[in-house]
Amino acid sequence: MRKPRLFTPGPTPIPEHVMLRMAEPILHHRHSEFVALMGRINAYLQTLFCTKQPVLSLTASGTGAAEAAISTLFQAGEKGLNINNGKFAERWGKMMTVYGMNSVDVPVEWGNAVSEERLREVLKQHPDTACVWLVHSETSTGTYTDIRTMSGIIREIAPDALICIDGITSIGAHECQMDEWGLDVVITGSQKGLMIPPGLAFIALSERAWKKADAHKPRNFYFDLRKAREAWHDNSTPWTPAVTLFVGLESALQMMMSEGMENVWKRHAALSRGLRAGLQSVNLPLYGSSPSHAVTVAHLPEQGGKDFIKLLKNEFGVTVIGGQDALKDVVFRTSHLGYYDEADMLAVLGSIEYALQKLGHKFEAGRSVYAAQRVFMGVE
Ligand SMILES: *Cc1c(COP(=O)(O)O)cnc(C)c1O
Repeated sequence: MRKPRLFTPGPTPIPEHVMLRMAEPILHHRHSEFVALMGRINAYLQTLFCTKQPVLSLTASGTGAAEAAISTLFQAGEKGLNINNGKFAERWGKMMTVYGMNSVDVPVEWGNAVSEERLREVLKQHPDTACVWLVHSETSTGTYTDIRTMSGIIREIAPDALICIDGITSIGAHECQMDEWGLDVVITGSQKGLMIPPGLAFIALSERAWKKADAHKPRNFYFDLRKAREAWHDNSTPWTPAVTLFVGLESALQMMMSEGMENVWKRHAALSRGLRAGLQSVNLPLYGSSPSHAVTVAHLPEQGGKDFIKLLKNEFGVTVIGGQDALKDVVFRTSHLGYYDEADMLAVLGSIEYALQKLGHKFEAGRSVYAAQRVFMGVE
């Protein structure tokens, strides 16, 4: 017997009691019971996003929230800066182009966050930009960007630009103070830090962004955020929502609320620190210069690296995921986003050691678990 253990940054594992809630008979979405459920969820989501603005729930994957933002807020011909430091960042530039925007790509070497100097420089070249897209936690490279500092710089040099944040793997892992930091658009998805299956996307807009949305005719229908906002005030959605996922979502959000957001962020910071210490101690160098608390990216073992991920899955039931594009067969990514604790990190490290031994990798057995444990015990 092998217990399946999922360590991927979306979908992420689902707590047992959340799964059980989703097995209950389905509700009708216009029934008072569902309206009351949405009311509770809407309040929790505002706490999650650190905002007083409505957090709108869309039945779509995370990408749907970005599409809703771009098509609701911007017109063809408007300029959009895209800070492109990975596979997901790249997507938002492509999307702006599809909607006829003048998308200006700002390439940043993978594994890095944009520097303050670089951001200042591009903003000075494009102070007329309608928006700037930043990925808070770039899942393809495991890179964290300090959006608090970056948003200050954007506001200073391009005061009218809307600051758009892909928080798909940062919400729930990193502090993200939407109102306090002056963020205009924040999006996330259900299958990441929220610990439920794929199928829901969440988005909040600032007052400034809503003003811009209200100034234009709609260029979308399903994703018209103004319709979603109207329904939000009645604890409803304009279209049939993924009812079952919302039932699970309430349970998952209740877990986060009772842990407390500060503690949720702290837990993710500790797990990522422990895992990093463990991987390094068995000679698996980390990738990138600015590690995210959602996912850890390390180099594959030199010997038999190509078989490492398959070996972990087939022999130990552990699913991690490889790199994309230039990072294919170079790195592997291990998630600690959502429903994870210290024991999960010790389990994944222990399994990794078994796989390394099979591949003839040079390391000292037990080292990684010891290193992580020292971090968790607070002696390191
Ligand atoms: C997963 C992910 C996305 C895409 O979300 P989907 O739910 O697959 O549409 C976008 N950005 C980041 C940073 C992600 O991790």
